[in-house]
Amino acid sequence: MSADSILLVEDEPEIREMLSFSLVRAGFEVIEADSAETALARLQGTPPKLLIIDWRLPGMSGVDLVRRLRRDPATSELPLIMLTARGEESDKLTGFDAGIDDYVVKPFSPRELIARVKSLLRRAGNPADGKMAAGPIEVDTRAHRVTVEGTRVAVGPLEFRLLEQLMRWPDRAFDRAQLLDRVWGRNIFVEERTVDVHILRLRKALAPFGADRCIETVRGIGYRFVAEESEWGARDDE
Ligand code: CA
Repeated sequence: MSADSILLVEDEPEIREMLSFSLVRAGFEVIEADSAETALARLQGTPPKLLIIDWRLPGMSGVDLVRRLRRDPATSELPLIMLTARGEESDKLTGFDAGIDDYVVKPFSPRELIARVKSLLRRAGNPADGKMAAGPIEVDTRAHRVTVEGTRVAVGPLEFRLLEQLMRWPDRAFDRAQLLDRVWGRNIFVEERTVDVHILRLRKALAPFGADRCIETVRGIGYRFVAEESEWGARDDE
């Protein structure tokens, strides 16, 4: 069995070595890069399972690297954690907007980073069997099957892809344009309102099982997946 590989992009040698050492000890294979440019060269081969990217890099910044990776279909879905020295809300949002899945604020312990890595890999699903689970819902991306607590739920192909997209990044709010890009594809002209129509269908399919509340409306933005029943708020149907 080969170890999950992680591409670590960090210019400061002490931090890179320390993180690399901890990740290897935790059972991962680490590919190191000291700049965004080196990282792009390393990504020409077999893609890693996950990327850890420092925000502040010489040359191309970490955030610009993320934007570039998200535009490329070959790397657009790779799980990605940002290392940042900034804790401000606006920077966090810039990062999420660029396409990061999670972030860790410096200084942090290697243990914290490894916990985030493992959690993100679990959320991102296991490509080996194509199965994802969050809250009461299980999705089999190979068989195109949705089950809620073991009971099969029939959903249409677009609803399936919407659910898969939202479930892959629980708690992350996607706006309608992002969902159109990721579910319908770029260069396809569909009105943003179409997303609402399919979200409604998805909720209807999940409602008999009480799982429709996993799909939450985020006012002024779009939608997000909420796995935990304790976090289900009053849904805001517009
Ligand atoms: Ca740095």
